Amino acid sequence: MVSAALELAERALLEERRALTPDEVRAVAARPLDELPDLIALAHRVRLVYCGSEVELESLVNAKSGACPEDCAFCSQSVKFDTGVDVYAFLDLDEVVDAARATKAAGATQFCIVVAVRGPSERLLDRVIEAVDAVHDETGLEVACSLGLLTSAQAARLAAAGVRRYNHNLEAPRAVFPEICTTHSWEDRVATAQLAIDAGMELCCGGILGMGETLDQRIDFMFELAALEPTEVPINLLDPRPGTPMGDRTPITAREALQAIALFRLVLPGAWLRLAGGRERVLGELQGMGLLAGANALIVGNYLTTGGRSPDEDHALLDALGMPVADGPGEGRFVVDATGTHKLPARPPRPTIPVTTA
Ligand code: SF4
Repeated sequence: MVSAALELAERALLEERRALTPDEVRAVAARPLDELPDLIALAHRVRLVYCGSEVELESLVNAKSGACPEDCAFCSQSVKFDTGVDVYAFLDLDEVVDAARATKAAGATQFCIVVAVRGPSERLLDRVIEAVDAVHDETGLEVACSLGLLTSAQAARLAAAGVRRYNHNLEAPRAVFPEICTTHSWEDRVATAQLAIDAGMELCCGGILGMGETLDQRIDFMFELAALEPTEVPINLLDPRPGTPMGDRTPITAREALQAIALFRLVLPGAWLRLAGGRERVLGELQGMGLLAGANALIVGNYLTTGGRSPDEDHALLDALGMPVADGPGEGRFVVDATGTHKLPARPPRPTIPVTTA
């Protein structure tokens, strides 16, 4: 029998079309993990109704690696930790464009230029914008950037260059962040996320699960993110990096991860929920279950400092699930407005997963 908490969540999201309250989400999360299939089934229905069955694919290029002055405890690119990660300055333009071509060949529509810095210098920003122009010209891909903390003038320059989406994760719940990073604050991160929106870019803002937060704090985090109305929420699952202060942490279990993904879908019904770093290690053979638990976007190929699996495997998985690859970000889709009323996607939702025939 489905629990009363889940029935209430279903009624709120699918009939009343209203956002859940934190208490309502906590009631769902309090159900035993043995009831996870019921939660996953609801999250999947919510995803289909609000977003349809498409899955958005994105690849990253680590365009400037290592030697970051910040001290984020999970990150192998911090100069503070001895991790043996590659250290290099901003790639040549040709290398960035080659990575974008590989992204296109992998069937992705989103290409994200990432640099390991506190925030970009003007010189670095010039080079990034040059790369954005070249990627647009050579591939036609949608370009996102992840360049750390921005000024409003820098955000405006990126928006003017046609950067569609800016990634700036909050990383952890507000209450946990000071244990993760001491060189900048959670509020600094929120401020840059807001600047990106104010400049007219879509916001990509998520974090990493499994850095010591409690389930309650994880739910707080979902609502902290929802308050920013992000277009995309990357969900990373801590894959402890040797040499970092979190190098000996135990990753969360696959069932905890699936519960979190499903709860994210209930809290952010209209967002692109992207399974990102750590999905292979934490979810293992259950990665398809992650896409049935509410996720509707993937990073394909490699991550910033760790390898991913081959894009062919992800395409085969999507084929098996009958989930088509999204052909682009889709203007105005999946927007949650400030009142918490969830707009329907611009395209008609597909009520069921279409069955593909060979
Ligand atoms: S700011 Fe980014 S690159 Fe630098 S240590 Fe933190 S997570 Fe790593």
